[in-house]
Amino acid sequence: MPCPELWFDPARILIAGRWLPADETLPAEDPSTGAPLARIARGSAGDIDAAVTAARAAAAGDWGRTAPADRGRVLARLGRLVADRAEAMARIEAADVGKPLSQARADALALARYCEFYGGAADKLMGQTIPYPADHTVYTLREPHGVTGHVVPWNYPMQIIGRSVGAALAAGNACVLKPAEEASLTALAFARLAQEAGLPPGALNVVPGLGPEAGAALAAHPGVDHLSFTGSVGVGVQIQAAAAANIVPVTLELGGKSPQIVFADADLDRALPFLVRAGIQNAGQTCSAASRILVQRAVLDQVTDRMAAAYRALRLGRAMDDPDVGPLISARQRAMVQGFLDLAPDAVLARAPLPADLPPGGHYLAPALLGGLGPDHSLAQDEIFGPVQVILPFDTEDEALAIANGTAYGLVAAVWTADGARQMRMARHLRAGQVFLNSYGAGGGVELPFGGTGRSGHGREKGFEALYGFTRLKTVAAWHG
Ligand code: NAP
Ligand code: MG
Repeated sequence: MPCPELWFDPARILIAGRWLPADETLPAEDPSTGAPLARIARGSAGDIDAAVTAARAAAAGDWGRTAPADRGRVLARLGRLVADRAEAMARIEAADVGKPLSQARADALALARYCEFYGGAADKLMGQTIPYPADHTVYTLREPHGVTGHVVPWNYPMQIIGRSVGAALAAGNACVLKPAEEASLTALAFARLAQEAGLPPGALNVVPGLGPEAGAALAAHPGVDHLSFTGSVGVGVQIQAAAAANIVPVTLELGGKSPQIVFADADLDRALPFLVRAGIQNAGQTCSAASRILVQRAVLDQVTDRMAAAYRALRLGRAMDDPDVGPLISARQRAMVQGFLDLAPDAVLARAPLPADLPPGGHYLAPALLGGLGPDHSLAQDEIFGPVQVILPFDTEDEALAIANGTAYGLVAAVWTADGARQMRMARHLRAGQVFLNSYGAGGGVELPFGGTGRSGHGREKGFEALYGFTRLKTVAAWHG
């Protein structure tokens, strides 16, 4: 059954401004029902090669020569087109990814906002003049890498395309995008709109397909000058190894086990919705999900009871019905999360109810709140990537820090306390790329630099900072006597 809201043929590959048929196709599935939705292209290594060649030509040609202000105008137009089509984009994403409609709408508007933000930034990326002996003038130029490769996961396709492709284009690069097999439709829709906005042929090429085929071919291609990857640690290792073979820079965003730390003096009424939402948003399939909730013992019972009540009130359902929690992306992901839960069946403190009328083919899993586990337990250490949160008690600030920093990851953290000095101490000592104080942004806004440390990865995307990663610096030193 074709997806009813598509205004384009999804089984195509975009190379050099032309929508080409693929030799083979793959099924796209609706995770809410398990029903087939559309067929997408199974891009090959040959398609990747053609896409890199097209990007090289655009980087050296039309797009590379476009003035920064004009690049910005194209992106701004693209942002307006995405905003105009946000409802259609959201419905495609809800059908393809199983993301509740209002969360998909937020993603579509974030994509529009990334285009707007990076469009506005395109002509504000400047070098410096450097003080040097008076017989010299020294300055730096920020130059695009040339061809950037983008391997994107299925959990937030629109946001991740916005933050990486948006910034790369603004800096003057030409892109090859490999969306996830399980979520390629909005990438294709975005590319259609980019053409409508006036992006020249080859500046953005989209090759859907399988990770080990199209993805691996892109990562290993010697014509790619920079790689941006979001996804699992295992594939991140392969991407970095492929980048090493070609000596090109790579940005890796590999998820986390992010803590929210609740002290006894916290404003619990404000904290509670953030604690729960940051665990169940997108069914917990969020790199910055707050999967560990550290609670000071004096308020442990109160926080546990209130979170448990919130869990029992969660509405599960089909993405199109806009529930609190939709299905997981796939049967495979559901089985993986269930495997984690099977490690400690006695740790379940509360679960959301599973409505009896859920479509039997959907990949539903009732969100689970866990407790009574030590901080070294696998469920408190490993990224589960499903709607599962673990409550961990602590007594002192030092103990909270030790637990919070005691995983292999370091992406986001939050501290809930009224004590300003403690806020500053915690923010300084937490091992994370983003720290929220009395708030939690689940990745934060478009403007906020984002990225990890340790096994969460390296490099920063989002905000103005991302533009530095998508450029390289040239120093020019002139002697003039
Ligand atoms: P994944 O395999 O890392 O997929 C991410 C992207 O990499 C997809 O586009 C995928 O393509 C591609 N890919 C896969 N193998 C590749 C290879 N050998 N070379 C180049 N690209 C390759 O992630 P997943 O299998 O979808 O999810 C597995 C786990 O990863 C999750 O359970 C979660 O723990 C983690 N994850 C983290 C994030 C995050 O935001 N940090 C996002 C998604 C997943 P295909 O999907 O088309 O094969
Ligand atoms: Mg799908």
